[in-house]
Amino acid sequence: MDNNAKINAFIKECEQENKAIFEQIDDVALHNQEKVLNAFRDNKVALRHFSGSSGYGYEDEGKGMLSRVFATAFNTESAIVSPLLASGTHTISTALFGLLRPNDELLIASGVPYDTLVPVINGKDNGSLADYNVKHTIVPLLSDGSFDTNTILKKLSSKPKVLLMQRSRGYTWRNPLSTNQIAELVVKVKKISPNTIIVADNCYGEFTEKIEPTSVGVDVIMGSLIKNPGGGIADTGGYIAGKEIHIKQIENRLTAPGVGVEVGSYTSGYRTYFQGFFNAPHVTASALKGALLFSKAFSKLKYKTLPDINSAVSDIICSINFDTKEELIKFIQTIQTCSPVDSFATPYPWDMPGYVDQVIMAAGTFVQGASIELSADAPMREPYIAYIQGGLTYEHVKIAVKNCINQLNLM
Ligand SMILES: *Cc1c(COP(=O)(O)O)cnc(C)c1O
Repeated sequence: MDNNAKINAFIKECEQENKAIFEQIDDVALHNQEKVLNAFRDNKVALRHFSGSSGYGYEDEGKGMLSRVFATAFNTESAIVSPLLASGTHTISTALFGLLRPNDELLIASGVPYDTLVPVINGKDNGSLADYNVKHTIVPLLSDGSFDTNTILKKLSSKPKVLLMQRSRGYTWRNPLSTNQIAELVVKVKKISPNTIIVADNCYGEFTEKIEPTSVGVDVIMGSLIKNPGGGIADTGGYIAGKEIHIKQIENRLTAPGVGVEVGSYTSGYRTYFQGFFNAPHVTASALKGALLFSKAFSKLKYKTLPDINSAVSDIICSINFDTKEELIKFIQTIQTCSPVDSFATPYPWDMPGYVDQVIMAAGTFVQGASIELSADAPMREPYIAYIQGGLTYEHVKIAVKNCINQLNLM
């Protein structure tokens, strides 16, 4: 067998071993597709909702409809869905500033949050929550990646205003938190401290399971539209979905107190947002399968990888632990060569805004930096872990797996 045939046979073998979990992913996608379709039908989405607006954006019908569709699909009373939210970090920051006041306490139940949220919560003299005297407490996850429930429940004695959890792994070696794990914690928290607002950073988690955290008692979820729920089509933006009283507070932070989402226009129109959300369950399933193929292939090649097929699937990421920095960089650069856009560019580690360590990112994407498209990134610190996510089509990821095995001379 020549090398090409050998790699093809190897990938086929990986797919065979992933057969059961791929079927499970298809089942989740079907369920979620129906849920999203029904959200469009129930709210009577029509062509006119795709039109843009200008100026203040008063009576912008598309904006309101888009929010209702998200709220229906995510099983919440209300939602903000807006191209004015510049990134996932901006979205989560907006929600936290909307809910917290000076002298309030923020309890973080899933360890140190995603890198770019650290300056939001604890920056010095940069307009952070800490600057406004919002105190925070971090409870690390246990070594198996689950909640340290006992410690979290003890910390409720100071009646924190908000409890924040992060569903996805971020740049850490762990599995995502499943909605089952979240459900168990939420019940206990609500019993002891019913007024604590439970919010979840839902980035990369949307549509990976049949329900979102808001269906198991989480009050507010937040995420980026250039990840799962934008379906690879939305141009920019974020969403915040949850109970009406909380969303009202957050709306005032998005624009100005007293004005909320009454203002805010978008001349380009909303078709990409609606269409992206409609495609999101299928695109997320493709990305999930891609992550599981990467994980299977590299674990068979003797790398440490996550997820394994026994772990709960609750985000779209595959983590691969490389032995050396050089191999990690070579891997990320190979992913870039497999991209439809900027395939000829070579990524290097750089000082990205909001990150402590240098980060290397392969993102040869149609929408800049969109990580629902095939992308890979890594902070330059030990252990040398690549985080791979996305893939608008499963076939694209499969081609990338093949190229990586080839370029890194693994077979
Ligand atoms: C991507 C991500 C963020 C931040 O989103 P940006 O769009 O990169 O600002 C926050 N939390 C998690 C878990 C993420 O995956």
